[in-house]
Amino acid sequence: LFVVFEGGEGGGKSTQVARLADALGNRGREVVVTREPGATDVGERIRGLVLGGATGPNALSPRAEALLYAADRAHHVATVVRPALTRGAVVISDRYVDSSLAYQGAGRTLPVDEVSWLSSWATGGLKPDLVVLLDVDPNVGLRRVVDRGAGTDRLEGESLEFHERVRYAFLDLAAADPKRYLVLDASRPADEIATAVAGRLDEMLVD
Ligand code: C5P
Repeated sequence: LFVVFEGGEGGGKSTQVARLADALGNRGREVVVTREPGATDVGERIRGLVLGGATGPNALSPRAEALLYAADRAHHVATVVRPALTRGAVVISDRYVDSSLAYQGAGRTLPVDEVSWLSSWATGGLKPDLVVLLDVDPNVGLRRVVDRGAGTDRLEGESLEFHERVRYAFLDLAAADPKRYLVLDASRPADEIATAVAGRLDEMLVD
């Protein structure tokens, strides 16, 4: 079973990934927690390139950025996600294809169908069984990130409009394929969100 958490900055994805991993681990399931970008050695270097680089006129070009995210994903799927799924583990990933559609597609305004094709090529067509979208208003999410003092340099490089395009791209993806998505309001208390996610997994794991 392949579960992905998606959403804008400051939506609490890492907290919820950890909560779900604990809940499933307590049920005796093998759980592999992973993320994009940066889950592998190569991915860690790619993460440095896409997140640690210059901003402004010397910033990575959007197509180069999209290819680096795709390279990270190709290697991640081939070496971490697929082997774990083959063993029967539950794989929980913090970000996956939708992040590229939202950030590189809607955010950077690359053609979304092209970004989608690139991602399917990179993953060999592997789709998640469930995408949990932690929907957050960028005004709230970015404030949370600033308050915890993490990643602010990079975030200053992008406008509020960029983050709004990203948000609506995630919501549109969810609306187009409602069975595969669980959309939750990230401003709700973490406990409530964790309970909603665990409830959905219970339905999926009846065996
Ligand atoms: O999930 P996390 O906060 O670690 O993501 C790191 C950053 O990478 C985020 O700021 C997000 O904007 C960016 N990102 C991106 N395109 C992706 C995946 C992540 O721009 N496909």
